[in-house]
Amino acid sequence: MSQRRVAALIGSPVEHSLSPAIHQAAFDAAGIDWTYAAFDVAPGRGAEAIAAMRVLGIRGLSVTMPHKHDVAAAVDRLEPAAAALRSVNTVSWVGDDLVGSSTDGAGFVASLADAGVDVRGTSVAIIGAGGAARSLVDALGRSGAASIRVINRTVDRARAACELAEVATLGSWDDVPGAELVVNATSIGMGVEPRAAGPADLPCDPALLRSGQVVADLVYHPLRTSWLGYAEQVGARAIDGLGMLIHQAALQQRAWLGHDPDLTAMRRAAELALGHPRRGEARR
Ligand code: NAP
Repeated sequence: MSQRRVAALIGSPVEHSLSPAIHQAAFDAAGIDWTYAAFDVAPGRGAEAIAAMRVLGIRGLSVTMPHKHDVAAAVDRLEPAAAALRSVNTVSWVGDDLVGSSTDGAGFVASLADAGVDVRGTSVAIIGAGGAARSLVDALGRSGAASIRVINRTVDRARAACELAEVATLGSWDDVPGAELVVNATSIGMGVEPRAAGPADLPCDPALLRSGQVVADLVYHPLRTSWLGYAEQVGARAIDGLGMLIHQAALQQRAWLGHDPDLTAMRRAAELALGHPRRGEARR
């Protein structure tokens, strides 16, 4: 009889998600009989999906919009970041309990560490105050950033994000040139090829960027956004959004399986799915 285990993604829409490719690659690289499915679950039905997870014995769940908040209320308990954010992107079993966690922020910090960037004591400017930005404020605060300035079109959302970390305060464009780490956590630039990008496709005026800064973009499609191109031109260090995507998924694998997955296999699967086949040797 088959011992196949099932993990899944719930969200809406899910058809363009990279998660199935990334997670299946990790299961296959580990040589385990797990399969990963994506379910389009209608808005408002996240709690029902959690009930189905219990009934069907689904071993691990990834959660994306619009269910992150509903799922936080439907699991048995929350890990600290998920509790602070009231948002869950991962559900795993601990004994008979379903535990909700949020791996985005920690995934971002891990992607910086991969690039040799230690966030402790760092001054950070975050552009954006949506779900991804909030997870960054929480994780960077926990990881010892010295200061976090949050800059957002809708100022009330920026104020709300600042409540997630003691060192976070409302920011303005004046904070960008002096920050050691500048992050685009908006959706600006997503799906826009650099050659076609205009000023409206940049999260901030690139003239605010400085040599020596670390400039990170959460956008991963395209991998090299127009904004990162400008950052490199001024001598800043550019970090794309793929590392965060891989690491947040790797932390999900760890929660489900109890061991670290093959990051190289996951990255290769993501690059293939994005249409950027790997050239040469594995980076890690
Ligand atoms: P979200 O909750 O919808 O937040 C969107 C953010 O972008 C808000 O701050 C919004 O500002 C801002 N924004 C959107 N259009 C804008 C515009 N034209 N001008 C100024 N601000 C604008 O989305 P999210 O979940 O935080 O995701 C944000 C981005 O991060 C997306 O591109 C997503 O794909 C990416 N992401 C990447 C990873 C990864 O692993 N690399 C993980 C999560 C998310 P307002 O508040 O004023 O509306």
